[in-house]
Amino acid sequence: MNKFFYNVAIAVPLRQTFTYHSNQEIIPGTRVAVKFGKTNKLGVVTETVSNSDIQTKPIHMVLDDGPVFSKTELKIFKWASNYYLHPIGEVVISFLPTHLRQIKNTYEVSILDDNKKIIEKNLDFETTLNSEQVKAVKFINKLQGFMPTLLYGVTGSGKTEIYIRCIYEKLLNNKSVLVLAPEIALTPQLESRVRNQFGDLVGIYHSKMTPTARYKVWKKFKNGEIKIIIGTRSAVMLPASKLGLIIVDEEHDASYKQQEGFKFSARDIAIKRAQTIKIPIILGSATPSLRTLKLVDDKKFQSISLTKRVTQKSPPKFSILDINEVNLVSGLAPQAIDAINRTLNQNKQAMIFINRRGFAPQFICSYCDWKAMCNSCDSSLVFHYQASRLICHRCDSAFGVPTHCPSCSKAQLSFHGTGTEQLEKTLKEIFPNSPIYRLDRDSTTKVGSLETILSEINNSDTGILIGTQMLIKGHDFPNLELVVAVNVDQGITSLNSSALEEMGQQLIQVAGRAGRLDGNATVLVQSRYTNDQNLLQLRSGNYLNFTKSLMKQRQLMNQPPYSFEATIKAVSPNAQTNLDMLIQTKKFIDATNCIVIGPIPAMQSKVRGSYHHHLVIQANTRTGLNKLLADLANSLTADKNKIFKKVRWSINIDPTEF
Ligand code: ADP
Ligand code: ZN
Ligand code: ZN
Repeated sequence: MNKFFYNVAIAVPLRQTFTYHSNQEIIPGTRVAVKFGKTNKLGVVTETVSNSDIQTKPIHMVLDDGPVFSKTELKIFKWASNYYLHPIGEVVISFLPTHLRQIKNTYEVSILDDNKKIIEKNLDFETTLNSEQVKAVKFINKLQGFMPTLLYGVTGSGKTEIYIRCIYEKLLNNKSVLVLAPEIALTPQLESRVRNQFGDLVGIYHSKMTPTARYKVWKKFKNGEIKIIIGTRSAVMLPASKLGLIIVDEEHDASYKQQEGFKFSARDIAIKRAQTIKIPIILGSATPSLRTLKLVDDKKFQSISLTKRVTQKSPPKFSILDINEVNLVSGLAPQAIDAINRTLNQNKQAMIFINRRGFAPQFICSYCDWKAMCNSCDSSLVFHYQASRLICHRCDSAFGVPTHCPSCSKAQLSFHGTGTEQLEKTLKEIFPNSPIYRLDRDSTTKVGSLETILSEINNSDTGILIGTQMLIKGHDFPNLELVVAVNVDQGITSLNSSALEEMGQQLIQVAGRAGRLDGNATVLVQSRYTNDQNLLQLRSGNYLNFTKSLMKQRQLMNQPPYSFEATIKAVSPNAQTNLDMLIQTKKFIDATNCIVIGPIPAMQSKVRGSYHHHLVIQANTRTGLNKLLADLANSLTADKNKIFKKVRWSINIDPTEF
């Protein structure tokens, strides 16, 4: 009997594939069940091998009647495993829909009649493009092969319409298109526009859907029944038939980076995928990341711009409000309250952007300075008024609100600082006749509640919108004329360089929500650092001016995108164990020409009872960094001293959280 050998990626945290044999011919990409240790485990065949000089075990069962992933897709997984230094089995399995992560389920290959679904020629579009849009569409439709292209379009310049025309062009050529978006649930507009145009050729894919619903979409995209996917980062590797274009909308958005487990960036994997199958990829944004702008500067990416808003209205003007020596009312300066009042009197809408939910971020005893802290995290408890609870925003633990100080027993407890709930209460008192809408994670837990609030806002002329960053993503508020940004100073004072970039992006994005009605909208930025150079750059409202000065600072300090970064994190119940492990690791890195900083406690230094510390590594080349980390991962895995076994360690490439 014939004996075939296969390498199999197995769902275990080990940095290798394993060789098994079978008397059956199996196409790589097919799922199998194999004995691993004492248990049956799920695996995916990654390649055929001609022979094995080691004793192999048989493949226990072939689960599917055909491959779930193509050869190219497997190639990209292999790249991702090397690039992110993450075990290949976990990489492959993480891109399987939940349904197929179970051994008991079978994938039945379904092939569609190729010409069954063809889009009609001369489709009607809702809008007539303006000249800038026409130019951009022509530019994109001419792209051949791998051509990463930045679509830089100021907010309201009509990027979605461009996506729609470019998708159409691909459909005409019988190609499919993958559109990635940061958080679909938060931006129903993109989905509804594309669906209006292309109906049931569109599928949605994100982690809030049920596993069954997701599997359905997965299968239909794979066999070509669905031609367009709009998905979040988990959709980046959906198997596709004849993929012709990838679009990454809001490419700068932090939610493309997965922060737990396999810490990949969907934006970066999307670029790799486009490169591997030699197709164009469009990165769209009004506030592109510095990394993308650097690639454009270096001529590795092309770029096309939309400089005007569709409405032709001028964008809002920024005004910076010094809040030193000002008595704030729930975080608002009197000048800001006056501006809100004027806006409401004109029967228009005002928005307060504050990145803090709950009533007040701190609960303190004024007698003994006791502060409510989480039992298992190093995090102040946030006072939530509606829930009548003190809540930890890291681990979601909730505690009752004491009336007397647990430390000195005095009844001198009070809350400090401002969150969305408090602003809502205060503004209701000041403006009792005005509708007030609050949008944050707490006000939108119910399915459909976000849509309801959004449509209420759009159906009323006047009112006050209060919200966290959830409010600033991609929405269109036609009557919004004033934005007050309440606590942006964290971005200015943070030691984390990406916090400043993010602050700039948020301010430009939040400004983009306003002034679609006429050209008189204003963004008031409250700050204690009114002379800060970066803030002053933003005042022009020109994002590219801001990034130019930020780039210079990054270059001077040799920070990304001028260098390449990674962190090595240690997590354990004992801080000293972390430090011991990281000091050993540091010795290893010191012997190379990479820079290493630390060990330092992570920004979230204690979560759910475990301490988090890390080293930050900077290298001048991507290959240098990758080689160092690969060697390091090997030696940590081999670990003769057993010191590395005492902590949970992980590597984060191109980290965005520290
Ligand atoms: P962006 O994503 O660039 O901020 P959108 O794609 O959301 O902009 O477009 C902003 C608004 O302008 C949307 O309501 C859209 O339907 C509308 N729009 C886009 N292009 C045109 C056009 N050529 N003519 C009329 N309206 C348009
Ligand atoms: Zn006290
Ligand atoms: Zn906690």
